Amino acid sequence: MRRRLFLTAPLAVAAPPAPAVETEIVRLKLRNTWTTVMSSSDYRETIHLRLRRDGLTGTGEGAPIVRYKESAATAKKAIEGVAGYLASADLRQYDKVLATAFGRIPGEYAAKAAIDIAVLDWASQRMGVPLYRLFGLDPGAAPVTTFSIGIDDPAATKRKVLEAAPFPVLKIKVGLDSDEATIEAVRSVTRKPLRVDANEGWKSREEALRKIQWLESQGVELIEQPLPAGREDDIRWLRGKVRMPIFADEACLRASDIPKLAEAYDGINIKLDKSGGVLEAYRMIQIAKALGLKVMLGCMISSSVTITAAAHLSPLADYADLDGNLLIANDPYRGVTVKDGKLMLPSSPGLGLKRL
Ligand code: MG
Repeated sequence: MRRRLFLTAPLAVAAPPAPAVETEIVRLKLRNTWTTVMSSSDYRETIHLRLRRDGLTGTGEGAPIVRYKESAATAKKAIEGVAGYLASADLRQYDKVLATAFGRIPGEYAAKAAIDIAVLDWASQRMGVPLYRLFGLDPGAAPVTTFSIGIDDPAATKRKVLEAAPFPVLKIKVGLDSDEATIEAVRSVTRKPLRVDANEGWKSREEALRKIQWLESQGVELIEQPLPAGREDDIRWLRGKVRMPIFADEACLRASDIPKLAEAYDGINIKLDKSGGVLEAYRMIQIAKALGLKVMLGCMISSSVTITAAAHLSPLADYADLDGNLLIANDPYRGVTVKDGKLMLPSSPGLGLKRL
């Protein structure tokens, strides 16, 4: 009898309810091998977070990188340490919730970014507004984004520049002995405005001066992080000798870094993965503007989750470099799109993401 009952029992069992806090390490495959002064990679791992409460799902992502001594595994562990708190806190009070959660996590800013993005996605969905509305922003004021060209040989650089035809402004990675050859390859196929990023690659201020003066003759608009972080005296010296605006990236992680940079640099590149999310990035934008610095919103290699979150703040930025999702072949989400280079923000509540 017992056996008979077992055999006739329905095979389907109800799936267990999805956990309130779910983390996942996602391997993003790059369309082209991505090379900068720092590293060369065919894929990058980011940490994804889904926060389920009251029938709504907030989605977050963070891109931990070796430069800041973070990894997807350490980010996952950090989020799991506050999962119980996030599952029970009143997420509508997102400012307090994030401050409390972050107080329990030393370092791990990519993990913090994933938490901040998921909580703000959830809270703005709960309020029924797109995230940019929480900050009172005009989506029509979102800027043009650059499209980034990683370091490569001249033939591959030319091919990539031609493939980037829909983008009106390009960001070119430099920082090696091959810089002149790279820029000459770019200039052999396009006259577009260029922004250049040396990623701390030049070693002396004299080398940086020589290269920037040459770049000025090549129609380059601005230079990012020509010398290693912490060399503000050299940047100040350099700035007295060149016309091109100099932006801090690796030298500027969070709001507390900005005051010491204000006398040296012309602008800062803000990334959610460095700041620990949207709230700190907003704080950084306000402080930078108060100190007379220009603001660029940038990104790591990420899916549309992080890029869309950053894009919601982009109406506040002077420059955008939000193309990390365009450099990967397996984006799990669709969010912000790009039309003739301009960022087009989704108008549905929250980040406005669609899982593909
Ligand atoms: Mg940079």
